[in-house]
Amino acid sequence: MSDIHLDQITKSFGPTPVLRGISLAIEKGEFLTLLGPSGCGKSTLLRILAGLEVQDSGSVRIGESLVDGMRPKLRDVAMVFQSYALYPHMTVAANMAVPLRMRQLNAWQRLPIVGWVVPGTRRLSAEIDAEVDRTARALGIGHLLSRKPGQLSGGQRQRVAVGRAMVRHPAVFLMDEPLSNLDAKLRVQMRAEIKDLHRRLGVTFIYVTHDQAEAMTLSDRVAVMLDGDLIQVAPPQEIYADPDDRRVAEFVGSPK
Ligand code: ADP
Ligand code: MG
Repeated sequence: MSDIHLDQITKSFGPTPVLRGISLAIEKGEFLTLLGPSGCGKSTLLRILAGLEVQDSGSVRIGESLVDGMRPKLRDVAMVFQSYALYPHMTVAANMAVPLRMRQLNAWQRLPIVGWVVPGTRRLSAEIDAEVDRTARALGIGHLLSRKPGQLSGGQRQRVAVGRAMVRHPAVFLMDEPLSNLDAKLRVQMRAEIKDLHRRLGVTFIYVTHDQAEAMTLSDRVAVMLDGDLIQVAPPQEIYADPDDRRVAEFVGSPK
């Protein structure tokens, strides 16, 4: 059963078409990579999936629901940004807890407040701390919880960003060039960690990169995107051995 359905998604910024009618079905638990050169529309498509951008036409279905018009926080997806987007003034623990605190706030809005005490507050906070702690340890950053982002290496920051996405246990992970700010050696190491994470969590990953090697090693299927169109969607081997057209062959560096 497909987990995500994109149907004829278009998007323009001003007069410039950025997505020209993207249709794609993604299987539950699949690792799918959007691969294409800078500016081809990858981030825009991912942001539409996350609900951070609205398409001009076409529809998005995630699981059973048509999510068009649904607010980002109500979608069962989590996004890891290229820039990590961590709050510099907050500790690692506080950064990782943000999605859970937001959920707590949303729940509070629906609860009666009795004498300024919201029922269950202390228990919820303890649960959030425990979840953050568990996730941080699983990512090897358990010892960094009281630091601020500025006191971390690039790789550690990247793990915090992944951890913040993990705490909500989303059904879908969206990752926008999560390794592009790391040096080459660390990039290869983190690639293995992301693959391992996908295996352990068993949920759907949609990964964006302009790096062919990254796409080829990580993915169940690669969707090659050029200038707002999907040109070919296939397993890495097939893309490499049997590219649909010359532009794909050139981009993935296959011999054809
Ligand atoms: P990619 O992630 O593949 O590099 P993007 O989706 O970020 O591509 O951008 C695709 C095109 O849309 C680019 O030409 C970019 O300049 C343009 N674009 C993206 N976001 C905006 C925006 N908010 N306003 C105007 N143009 C944008
Ligand atoms: Mg981008």
